[in-house]
Amino acid sequence: METTAAFAGLECVDCGTAFDAAEVTHRCPDCDGVLDPTYDYDAIDLDRETLESRPFDSMWRYEELLPFRRESAVTMDEGTTPLVDCPALADEFGVERVLIKDEGRNPTNTFKDRGQTVAVTAASQHGASDVVLASAGNAGQAASAYAARAGMDSHVYLPSRAGFTNKAMVNVHGGDMSVVGGRIGDAGEAYEEASTDHDDWYPLQTFVTPYRHEGKKTMFYEVVEQLEWETPDAIVYPTGGGVGLIGMYKAAKEYRDLGLIDDLPELYAAQASGCDPIVEAYEEGWDEHEPVEHPDTICGGLEIPDPGASPWILEALRETDGGAVSTADPDILEAGVQVAKQEGLEMVPSSAAAASGAWELAERGEFDGDETIVILNTGAGNKEADVLRSHLMSQGV
Ligand SMILES: *Cc1c(COP(=O)(O)O)cnc(C)c1O
Ligand SMILES: [Zn+2]
Repeated sequence: METTAAFAGLECVDCGTAFDAAEVTHRCPDCDGVLDPTYDYDAIDLDRETLESRPFDSMWRYEELLPFRRESAVTMDEGTTPLVDCPALADEFGVERVLIKDEGRNPTNTFKDRGQTVAVTAASQHGASDVVLASAGNAGQAASAYAARAGMDSHVYLPSRAGFTNKAMVNVHGGDMSVVGGRIGDAGEAYEEASTDHDDWYPLQTFVTPYRHEGKKTMFYEVVEQLEWETPDAIVYPTGGGVGLIGMYKAAKEYRDLGLIDDLPELYAAQASGCDPIVEAYEEGWDEHEPVEHPDTICGGLEIPDPGASPWILEALRETDGGAVSTADPDILEAGVQVAKQEGLEMVPSSAAAASGAWELAERGEFDGDETIVILNTGAGNKEADVLRSHLMSQGV
């Protein structure tokens, strides 16, 4: 296996045991906990000037802080997305600056590409011929795209309510798609069964592979560099399984420890009120979520009733003095429409939850007048144009 110089291996988040990444590929062999890539940070010699001197051309420009070398990556030059100034939103929120990190401009139009480029690179380093996952939609589309690029077969389990674009594009990439009646939990069960029958299929499932949150770290590296090394006061993130939130939390601590920034940003989890286990646990002061029994939101990427990494998500919110907020589907769709009307940017409903959540936080007085707020637009609006348009119909337009 070809890795970067400082990559040290994998460590279990639950029991702390360290493993060789060439031998252990997924969950902790001792306790089944989530594995986290680790580095010898003393061996990483990165300063602001070195990073600035590199072209802003791919998230792999941060390869020293990733497990694999850019040379061996399965990549389509994902990442390095724009951070767009939103003066109308800043006005509405009563803050100095609002910026939207526009992840819609990734190869398959969501930030899932950042996770899959690293996870599929790991699969290729481990010699996998087949990859498998269950997904609400976007991760499945991204996985089938990267698997196609790597010459692997992909097996993708989607719930029937996954969006049309996701289903169509898994087919277009040549993926083996199974549409499972029901919701993400049902797709997850079909995935488990298939994985048991085919133990040579390499899982790309959230937090089953240790590499998806690792890829999503790069969102934070880019944001601070785009803000000329100023850490934003707050980052509002539309939270399902929390992969991106945990990635950014890890990235912020790495940059602080490497001396590249001084402070951590406040991290806020935004959810839909029809499925908000993180918000409930945060507000109740719990260390872990209670699964939602009847999840129901139009935001497919956020309809994750049982987010296994909730202790880690809650730690990120509390350690950074951030918080959690949920809003109702009609408010989320309205926020997506307002961002499109006022700023021109197109947000998929799941990410409009972050705009809606930020709006709610601003109304609660959570932000100060001199603050810089970053909202993650995790996916392009045209992935679910029909859902956004239907909101106008509910208004008689
Ligand atoms: C997957 C997804 C999310 C949720 O991401 P997590 O990292 O699992 O919390 C949010 N928005 C969109 C568009 C997604 O596809
Ligand atoms: Zn363990």
